[in-house]
Amino acid sequence: MGPILVLGGGQLGLMMAEAAARYGIAVDRYDPEGDRLLPGTSDLGVPATTDTLARYARITVEREAFPDTGPGRELAESERCVARGALAVIPDRFTQKSMLDDLGIATAPWRPLDQQGDLGNALSDWGPVVVKARSGGYDGRGMWFADEDGADVPEAAIAGKAIIEKKIPFSRELSVVGARNPAGEMVFYPLVRNWHVNGILCLTLAPAAAVDAALQAEAETALGQIMTRLDYAGVMAVEFFQHGEHLLVNEIAPRVHNSGHWSQEGADISQFELHVRALADLPLATPQCGPFNAMVNLIGVDFRDDWLSRAGTVHWYGKSVRPGRKVGHVNLVAGSAEDLHAQLSDWLDVMPDGALAQLDDELNSRR
Ligand code: ATP
Ligand code: MG
Repeated sequence: MGPILVLGGGQLGLMMAEAAARYGIAVDRYDPEGDRLLPGTSDLGVPATTDTLARYARITVEREAFPDTGPGRELAESERCVARGALAVIPDRFTQKSMLDDLGIATAPWRPLDQQGDLGNALSDWGPVVVKARSGGYDGRGMWFADEDGADVPEAAIAGKAIIEKKIPFSRELSVVGARNPAGEMVFYPLVRNWHVNGILCLTLAPAAAVDAALQAEAETALGQIMTRLDYAGVMAVEFFQHGEHLLVNEIAPRVHNSGHWSQEGADISQFELHVRALADLPLATPQCGPFNAMVNLIGVDFRDDWLSRAGTVHWYGKSVRPGRKVGHVNLVAGSAEDLHAQLSDWLDVMPDGALAQLDDELNSRR
């Protein structure tokens, strides 16, 4: 297998490059904004030329949005890009949700925000809602909650460029990560439980508690249908709201996903390895994982040496630190609920208030 090119210069490509090295496969990265080629895990960019970019037989992505013009967009839309079909549908929440409707996969009730007044109508039909920019939002950006008392939704500015969703009183947020190879074979990780604060993922527990075979099957069927429809190769993730005994799809990520980072230490095949296997046409296998794993995101905090003396494995991305920016994560692997609680207690200073108590509630249902 020749070298793989990742479009994007962030941490996801970095972790793919680390994982691929174990198979002797080179993964280089392309930073579309800087028009630079980043060899492997190095951030010492070299100029990208048409000739060098032509050398990569398989192209994958670590994000959904690209500049409107230039090599990044051309490569994302090229035949060599395994996410090509997904990128034609997923970056726009309108086309993404329309595809889910077409596949018969349940989501929150939604409609486009086309003109002034649509928001008021949705509020009277559904009660509280969430307005989301059709494209470009992530980590809670480009999204506004609104109820009958109003909200700061810039309705006039985003008419035609946003959708409105009913606010779901979900019991839990869950996600599933899986992979599909070019032959159409698929494997999945167990459903995991995610906690978001202000739209940013803070904590993942893997596997989630109280998931029966029917719920896991519901998740795998949805992700399987989506990957097949998009003729996708590689790892993909779907975020869900659990509502009663069923799942509603929140959104799809055509890439390795933050809620799969636990698999680096918590499973025998990490999501990054699985992604490389799928791209390189190496055998897929269902990853085996231990009973109690957690991932804590490091958000807007400076690196501290004493982290390396605590329980768990620190992954630091080497990015500049800004409030609300994901700059690293910690993976914890435990043999029991008590052990996981004890390990997480080491990390209270980087966790949102109350996170450990919520995780204990979830774990209690497995004791
Ligand atoms: P990501 O960084 O995962 O791409 P995002 O900013 O694009 O996130 P969403 O995943 O759509 O946006 O929403 C972020 C979070 O906001 C969700 O995980 C959930 O906690 C909350 N949320 C979003 N939509 C709804 C909804 N319809 N009802 C209730 N909560 C919601
Ligand atoms: Mg999300």
